[in-house]
Amino acid sequence: MHTLLLSPDHIHLDSFYCSYEYTIYQGLNHNIRPTNGKLLKGVRALRVPPCLKDHLRCLLIGRIKCRTFWDKIPGCTERVMCLLCRKKNINVLESKQHMWLECENNGQELAWETTKNTWQKTTDRNWPNITAGLIRGVPALSFKHDFSKDAERLRILITVTIWAIWKSRNKSAITNQDVAPSETSEILKELISDIVRKNWNVMHFMEGIRRSDRQHELCALWANKRLVDFNLKTGPNVDFS
Ligand SMILES: [Zn+2]
Repeated sequence: MHTLLLSPDHIHLDSFYCSYEYTIYQGLNHNIRPTNGKLLKGVRALRVPPCLKDHLRCLLIGRIKCRTFWDKIPGCTERVMCLLCRKKNINVLESKQHMWLECENNGQELAWETTKNTWQKTTDRNWPNITAGLIRGVPALSFKHDFSKDAERLRILITVTIWAIWKSRNKSAITNQDVAPSETSEILKELISDIVRKNWNVMHFMEGIRRSDRQHELCALWANKRLVDFNLKTGPNVDFS
């Protein structure tokens, strides 16, 4: 397992080397860049709902239909501006970078803040600097010394956050409904709670040692008594406060 983590197909995160490694991923050193095969395998292994996995696959194969996607489609080039910003009279191209990390009108900032707070309740590791390169490489993220499932939790949290931003952006840009800035992070919290609950419920179909192993694993993954209270009678309760 240790040698697998040292494979160049994984992006290593370490609090001291975060920014350096992300830079590497963004193309300066292709030895660290995970292969598409490794990324797709990582997507399959993620314990998140299928629609979130599809969203990640779309990202990997360049099918996220944010508005710069339309730039390549003949006759659609006028559709490239961010509609949410345009409602505020700001003209800006809607790239993935804009949608997930820069837009001031789709609630992304608050959503990442929620994710960061959630992360900080679960571990002493620093919250990484989120870049477009890191988002793309999320299925292959790993830590060199990961004894508390931090990497798996980080993979899930980033996946859920980009999905929540995407859903809220679609509601506002496509269906033209008003979306409050806090709505994206509310979608995010519901998704995290839902994933924790489903992870926990699956365990009830297991027996004996398999069940207790799984229980132990889930308590580590979701930081029992800090982020989640895995109450054996009432089920898991996620505390975002
Ligand atoms: Zn925008």
